[in-house]
Amino acid sequence: MAILITGGCGYIGSHTCIEMLAAGYDIVVIDNFYNSKPEALNRVKELSGKDFPFYECDIRDEEGLRKVFSENKIDAVIHFAGLKAVGESVEKPLEYYDNNVYGTLVMYRVMKEFGCKRIVFSSSATVYGGVNPSPLKEDMPTGAVTNPYGRTKYVLEEILKDFCVSDPAFSAVLLRYFNPVGAHESGRIGEDPNGIPNNLMPFLLQVAIGKREKLSVFGNDYDTHDGTGVRDYIHVVDLARGHVKAVEYAMKNVGAQPINLGTGVGYSVLDIVKAFEKVNGVPVPYVIAPRRAGDIATCFSDPAKAAELLGWKAELTLEDMCRDSWRWQSGNPQGYDS
Ligand code: NAD
Ligand code: UDP
Repeated sequence: MAILITGGCGYIGSHTCIEMLAAGYDIVVIDNFYNSKPEALNRVKELSGKDFPFYECDIRDEEGLRKVFSENKIDAVIHFAGLKAVGESVEKPLEYYDNNVYGTLVMYRVMKEFGCKRIVFSSSATVYGGVNPSPLKEDMPTGAVTNPYGRTKYVLEEILKDFCVSDPAFSAVLLRYFNPVGAHESGRIGEDPNGIPNNLMPFLLQVAIGKREKLSVFGNDYDTHDGTGVRDYIHVVDLARGHVKAVEYAMKNVGAQPINLGTGVGYSVLDIVKAFEKVNGVPVPYVIAPRRAGDIATCFSDPAKAAELLGWKAELTLEDMCRDSWRWQSGNPQGYDS
């Protein structure tokens, strides 16, 4: 019995491999290294002290997936593989629908062929769109998404719900992540973005290390406590532990279940900057810049359903997120190429 982790070399996937191994699961990992490096895998093995099968395989490669499923007894899939950059998805919608939507369909076909009926899917708070007030709850309407990336997540949630209707033994846990940040406390694995980071924490880290001059704070005239955007930042290790609980849940239940993974607490951009400077004693120069198109003022979760169904809640603090992010960045200034 093993759990297949697609995209297991990526940021969230690599942390989840460690937590799954620590919980005693056997894992099999696939990745096409589109947005990750083999070194991440070496470090997962080093930190866990365990070995596991890895296949360099694209989720759109049906034959490749058949080989994985025929060589291993796969009981459930944790499905991270996909493209995730909002701006890029606007420029390259075909790539996003092909990779995220078509890729998942191929994988489902192979799962079906091999009788694998459980999936834990990486969805996103983006499916709530900008129309719902925070705290966001799983029964609020979804689908008012504003870019192709968000649409792939919304569409895949709907498709997985359809699969559950067509097969009453199928189980799909749709995990809606809020804003993952932080790194493993060892500082050996973390987020290693290509090019100019879009997200707040990776950009802030590159400013802190001197790679970029200043952080642009996108807007200080929102209706929030200090005018800057508020988000629900969650430590990636808490998030990874949520996947362990989600797999346990998928083993015992059927049907499609959307579940938020967030802390339920919102912090502003300036809260993050100040906490980072205080915890690490490192200055983060910033300027106030215009609002970024498509951003909303506030987005945070109601995490009650995860507590109720999974017995999970986030435990690590904003200070942990800032400290662990910096330990990774300062110890690996060039990411996995350091
Ligand atoms: P990541 O890019 O670090 O990891 C994704 C991994 O999937 C990478 O290793 C990449 O090489 C691999 N991959 C991509 N396409 C593939 C394909 N066709 N076949 C095989 N492997 C492929 O991203 P992440 O931050 O770890 O995110 C993981 C998942 O969580 C993604 O589906 C993402 O959309 C979702 N998510 C991420 C965030 C976030 O802020 N990081 C928020 C919400 C949801
Ligand atoms: N943000 C910012 N400067 C940056 C990147 C992000 O001020 O260089 C802000 C952004 O406007 C939002 C918050 O930080 O209020 C989180 O943005 P991110 O892109 O990390 O996540 P998302 O917008 O997807 O929640």
